[in-house]
Amino acid sequence: MAEEKKRLKETEGSVLLEAENLVKEFPLANSRKGKQVVHAVSGVSLTIYEGETLALVGESGCGKSTLGRTLIRLLPATSGRLMFQGMEISSMKEKEFAPYRRQMQLIFQDPYASLNPRMNVKEIIAEPLTTYGMAKDKEDLERQVKELMKEVGIPVEFINRYPHQFSGGQRQRIGIARAIALRPKLIVCDEPVSALDVSIQSQVLNLLKDLQDQNQLTYLFISHDLSVVKFIADRVCVMFLGMMCEIGETEALYEKPFHPYTRFLLDAIPKADPKLRNEKKELLSGEIPSPVNPPSGCRFHTRCPYAKELCRQEIPAGKKIGERQVFCHFPLEG
Ligand code: SF4
Repeated sequence: MAEEKKRLKETEGSVLLEAENLVKEFPLANSRKGKQVVHAVSGVSLTIYEGETLALVGESGCGKSTLGRTLIRLLPATSGRLMFQGMEISSMKEKEFAPYRRQMQLIFQDPYASLNPRMNVKEIIAEPLTTYGMAKDKEDLERQVKELMKEVGIPVEFINRYPHQFSGGQRQRIGIARAIALRPKLIVCDEPVSALDVSIQSQVLNLLKDLQDQNQLTYLFISHDLSVVKFIADRVCVMFLGMMCEIGETEALYEKPFHPYTRFLLDAIPKADPKLRNEKKELLSGEIPSPVNPPSGCRFHTRCPYAKELCRQEIPAGKKIGERQVFCHFPLEG
């Protein structure tokens, strides 16, 4: 934790990516007159600092993966502004955006599905290097591929093997090698360890941390697993139904959540200590409302035990509580 704090301190103020009022809507197929939309991301404004790991958390369907993809322009935003290293990238044409695209990579949840089964490791890792003309010749390409294999802990003698000849953890290492091949600044890690056995998860998380330190990487780490997030993230952004609930430093947020939804998520983490397991806690009731017709005002109000009339009427603006930003009319503390 001290190391994370040191890294944050050193890079404090260097903004890598900034989103302003980002909106992503998908037209609903077969909707009447084609007017209905899925409100996947609604007015998200956030900053990602160089060298940090910012986690996006929330229940499945809260829009975190869509937000991650929209932030790096893998999905076009419906509206809003994106700045990368001070340059506005949201309005750039594809050709103008190309040099920025290689700075932003993605690690997928399912390493097997994300690797082409007909390509061997050499071809998979070489692909981005070839696309961007990063190798002088064939020998240089093979040298770079082997270097990347060593960096992620895959023996170089496996260079001609195919994805099905590897374990799940090794496949994810190959996916990571491909993601770092172009030496990007920002990597969106979309549930990168959810498909792996618990025993393998920590190895891959440690690899991500080591690579971050060695390559000055910045991670946007998407996960529904708050134990994993606590281990890896410097800051956490909690989302509910396409909107931000709370964003702040990991340790402080886990210690004292201000948004009711954050507290429910944290209360739901299984406790290792048997004494704590019997603690009485409020459980979150009800289903997540439809993103096609999201509730008015605070989108969490249909599930929130603290909801008042104001919550039904007005979308909560972000309040600063210390270093935290909280989107709630009646934060739990502060
Ligand atoms: Fe609950 Fe109201 Fe806060 Fe929303 S704004 S989380 S409904 S108290």
